[in-house]
Amino acid sequence: MGPVTVRLPIPCLVVLVGPSGSGKSTWAAEHFRPGQTVASDDLRALVGEGRYDQRAGTDAFDVLDLVLERRLRRWLTTVVDTLGLDATRRGQYQAAAARHGVPCHVVVFDTPGSVCRARNRARDRPVPPKVLTGQLAALAPTRAALADEGFEGVHLAGPVELVPRQLFSAPQHAARQREAPMPLRFGLQIPSFTWESGPPGIAARLGEVAAAAEQAGFTSLWVMDHFVQIPQVGPEWQDMLDSYTALGFLAGRTSTIRLGTLVTGVTYRNLAHLAKILATLDVVSGGRAICGLGAAWHEREHKLYGWEFPPTKVRYDLLEDALELLPLMWGSGNPRYTGRTISIPEAICYPRPLQAKIPVLVGGSGETKTLRLVARYADACNLFGDPATVRRKVGILGSHCFDEGRTLASITVTNLSTVLVGRSREEVDRAVERLRPRSASPEDFSTRVSAGTIEDQVGRFRQYVDAGVQTAIVNMPDLDAAAVERFADVIAAFPQEGRGW
Ligand code: GDP
Ligand code: MG
Repeated sequence: MGPVTVRLPIPCLVVLVGPSGSGKSTWAAEHFRPGQTVASDDLRALVGEGRYDQRAGTDAFDVLDLVLERRLRRWLTTVVDTLGLDATRRGQYQAAAARHGVPCHVVVFDTPGSVCRARNRARDRPVPPKVLTGQLAALAPTRAALADEGFEGVHLAGPVELVPRQLFSAPQHAARQREAPMPLRFGLQIPSFTWESGPPGIAARLGEVAAAAEQAGFTSLWVMDHFVQIPQVGPEWQDMLDSYTALGFLAGRTSTIRLGTLVTGVTYRNLAHLAKILATLDVVSGGRAICGLGAAWHEREHKLYGWEFPPTKVRYDLLEDALELLPLMWGSGNPRYTGRTISIPEAICYPRPLQAKIPVLVGGSGETKTLRLVARYADACNLFGDPATVRRKVGILGSHCFDEGRTLASITVTNLSTVLVGRSREEVDRAVERLRPRSASPEDFSTRVSAGTIEDQVGRFRQYVDAGVQTAIVNMPDLDAAAVERFADVIAAFPQEGRGW
């Protein structure tokens, strides 16, 4: 059996423990980039006359402490390459990590003494044999002490897997999902249309992705309602399709998957016209439309297209009018509607949608206004954030529901996140390397896109289920048919049953 893999969260502080010649620096160089390791030997060379200048030891450790402090402050994964045999120094490293909320792990090198001695003899400047004997003797009591020193993990040296902190404990949640599966549906969001083939290839790629999504078990497909790319995703000269035209195309290319925007800004269209667009999408898709609505936020886009961008209060009035008017437009009769921002003498929209009521999803996590509107009018909400945040928001939504005389169970809770999935750790790491912008480190990028294996993702989504989510909507930085197909194994871990879509 090979050595056990050392699973480490991003970011973390890794404190190495082992005598001279046990292989610490070699291990650090193999698994981390040069700048990530802070080594006392290197610093002795920097502030003294060379790597073995023992008189420079105190200064070297001063610099090491300073570098460590600055790196931890910036949440940078860091390896401390010292002997690690001094309990006081270990305590200091751990305390520094704790001050910055960075988990601290120890990696122990238990290389046989004979091997360390032989390697030491082979060095051009060996450590005095007596000194090495002392280090070797200190290892066993140090190992015994480590268990009680409060590190997040104590590992034996082995191959490393670095995983975003939000996925670190995912395997245990994935195990729970295997033992007692809970249902979860999945939606795919397509927030970007900038692909290698350029505009002539967009339709084909979009069709392929949609077909793959349906095949993989996604139950809903989403586009943004933006007219230029938003800064969170890319520069505004990137290709951006009109939302409902794209959905109309997707309706023709798919047969079972639901279609919607995440989410339609209420400022962009006359609200009665919006009702008409949704009814049309529902009819041409055979009853698969979902109506995502939000108060809109991207002011510059309004300026570029000549739309008014009214103050927040007015935008929420528009949203509330939409929530009241759209069902009237879709429903029977021709009622008059007088709202806060719009008056309609007769709400007329033929053909009516095929669905008795097109489900309405309100985007946004605002606790006092948005979630209250969800409770009063909507069939679904979309919450951002980590599972703990989502859980708290669901609790608040529940209390709004109570006030409105509704049950929380009548609302589909959705969540939007970015995922990068690989079938193995190696595949994940290769994808991170291929996709990350030059300005982002692998650690940064993999955290931002929650890069992980199928197992990691299953565990992560199980935590969202526990937080109250029924539908996980994802986007992918490597979106193509193959990426969508890889995701099928994540979906397969969740029974596709129960309410919602
Ligand atoms: P440190 O003093 O604990 O930092 O040990 P080093 O990483 O400097 O390793 C001491 C010597 O052992 C170097 O010459 C390495 O090339 C060699 N070494 C380290 N790890 C291994 C290993 O896993 N296998 C072999 N064959 N040599 C190793
Ligand atoms: Mg070394």
